Amino acid sequence: MNTPVETLEFQAEARQLLQLMVHSIYSNKDTFLRELISNASDALDKLRLETYRDKDLAADTSDLRIELVADRVERTLTVRDNGIGMSRDEVVALIGTIAKSGTAEFLRKMKESKDAAASQDLIGQFGVGFYSSFMVADHVTLLTRRAGEAAGTRWESAGEGTYTIETVEDAPQGTSVTLKLKPEDTEDHLYDYTAEWKLREIVTRYSDFITWPVRLEVERTVEDKTTREFETVNSGKALWARSKDEVPAEEYTEFYKHISRDWHDPLETVHVKAEGTFEYQALLFLPSKAPFDLFMRERKRGVQLYVKRVFIMDDCEALMPEYLRFVKGVVDAQDLSLNVSREILQQDRQIQLMRRRLVKRVLSTVKTMMADAPEKYATFWTEFGPAVKEGLLSDSENRETILDIASFASTHDAEKPTTLADYVERLPEGQEHIYYMTGASRAIVESSPHLEAFRAKGLEVLILTDAIDEMWVDSTDEYRGKKFQSVAKGEVDLDADKPEEAGDFEPLLTWLSSNLDSVKQVRLSSRLTTSPACLVGEAGDLTPTLEKMYRAMGQPVPEVKRVLELNPSHALVTGMRTAFAAGGHETELGETAELLYGMALLAEGGDLPDPAKFTKVLADRLARSL
Ligand code: ADP
Ligand code: MG
Repeated sequence: MNTPVETLEFQAEARQLLQLMVHSIYSNKDTFLRELISNASDALDKLRLETYRDKDLAADTSDLRIELVADRVERTLTVRDNGIGMSRDEVVALIGTIAKSGTAEFLRKMKESKDAAASQDLIGQFGVGFYSSFMVADHVTLLTRRAGEAAGTRWESAGEGTYTIETVEDAPQGTSVTLKLKPEDTEDHLYDYTAEWKLREIVTRYSDFITWPVRLEVERTVEDKTTREFETVNSGKALWARSKDEVPAEEYTEFYKHISRDWHDPLETVHVKAEGTFEYQALLFLPSKAPFDLFMRERKRGVQLYVKRVFIMDDCEALMPEYLRFVKGVVDAQDLSLNVSREILQQDRQIQLMRRRLVKRVLSTVKTMMADAPEKYATFWTEFGPAVKEGLLSDSENRETILDIASFASTHDAEKPTTLADYVERLPEGQEHIYYMTGASRAIVESSPHLEAFRAKGLEVLILTDAIDEMWVDSTDEYRGKKFQSVAKGEVDLDADKPEEAGDFEPLLTWLSSNLDSVKQVRLSSRLTTSPACLVGEAGDLTPTLEKMYRAMGQPVPEVKRVLELNPSHALVTGMRTAFAAGGHETELGETAELLYGMALLAEGGDLPDPAKFTKVLADRLARSL
């Protein structure tokens, strides 16, 4: 018996996304069919997999397929599969809500960007899947029955705030989605999606590689007798099994969109065929845009595992390291069991070898791009550089290669980043260090006092502003024999100049060192030309940013005191020396030193420990100087 029809509300995020689809901002509406076929194909993959795992599953797997049936008179198009199907709860969870983390954030950005192109860009990045039906339909009916279950579920919606759902007795296994098409409107690129030629064209363009048969119901007239029959309209060839020269670029692109759920074209394709004792094929892609959740914790990896053309699992972490989590694609291994589990994969030696080869191929692809297609490389690095740099910490085997393909902002050029190779190339004779400074932004680093003497001497400094930079640079010793040296750490010995002799500053420095509690020591500086003071860390110390990061992660770290360096040619510093020599100004000098310390903190973009006190002392001083 059918249950009564229930009307339910879409989750708020889902409703907003649907709104966008109904008032379609995406210009290429044909892609709705790609999404529905893609879902049907996934459902068939899942069914096959589940029957391998569960021998008792009461499922019919005799003629697995996807069918397209159009009705010109009713203006409907049905896409159906006999795959895994969905239970009633699954329909509510999967179709009525959007589980992707970061959806709210995404929708907020979407709202902010008034410009249509930018919106398309965003939605492309997000991938709207099933909801794209509402670009072309004003009413959608989904009838589904999960393999092994007795009852089915009917879901209907006009894409507004609500949908109806009911349990039905007589539903075939799998899912059928029926679209009640909007009126035709060629101006708005809304074609007749009941026309045979159109459907054929879309399948060929977007879904040819789908390994399940996609059958289109066609009309055949033979000797005045009209019959309807199904005709397979896709070739179904696994792209990765074909040879590279045989696959047109567009097919790679559409395949990428199917597996990645990204609507943009990929930036680069990597096709690997390994023969020999352990045979496998891989088709990997570098996307052209970072997904919005690249740095979210639960972010999945993008490589699917197939065994002998059979889909085994999504986001196979055994095949790609975390720092290459943005790489999408398929790996098809010939000699694995269809029953492999994630645990087995993690430990399998051949899988580990395969992963090493694939990582090297991805990195060498970027290297080639760097040489042959600098603009593509620049896009890649802007989008994914911050993730790739994580590899400097986790993948010591490829550290050198990662350093080779990295690029960084530098004081050498205000616009163009530099590679380390180019930096080293420019080094003057005898310079043994690659100088760098970390900070929250280019502007903060550039105006920092630490940079003054380097700038005055024309020495190039790398400007590292990604959070990860603080960490890899700390643990990476050198590149091509040149050591990494922070301009904000340790004593710098800027060649020609002798390190400053304390001379007659000595008594002042000694006194300050023992009276200024916030710092480890007070000494003269050779890195300042115009600022009175700056703070520097000792070689092995945590930087303030790292200290903050560890604290934020809940790791206890000891408070790190730094060294206050004074500029011996600054009037404030020489004035302090004179006052100290004259004696009797200790309270005032202590205050001045605190102010100097505060100014040094502010100059590097840091936070004052006690802003109220700083402001009060400064205001008193200013008042007295009037
Ligand atoms: P995505 O495919 O990116 O997960 P979709 O919006 O296309 O997002 O689909 C949402 C979910 O609904 C799918 O992940 C799947 O679980 C379920 N689904 C959609 N279509 C089908 C189908 N034909 N058969 C079974 N499940 C489906
Ligand atoms: Mg989908």
